[in-house]
Amino acid sequence: MGKWIHLDTSYKSYVNPESLHCQACGKMIPKDAWISEKKGTDVSFCDEECEKMYDYMAVRRTKK
Ligand SMILES: [Zn+2]
Repeated sequence: MGKWIHLDTSYKSYVNPESLHCQACGKMIPKDAWISEKKGTDVSFCDEECEKMYDYMAVRRTKK
């Protein structure tokens, strides 16, 4: 289950000192990120739709 994070400087430095990109579509996330834990790692997305896309791609990656 994910959560919304407002990207203030403290969170940015916790995740990544540079910029945060959506791990599904690759867009830069300017202020609010949807963060969801995947296999013990926080993964950043634009929103829940991108998380669904990421999960879908992950299934495709593992199935061959
Ligand atoms: Zn996205």
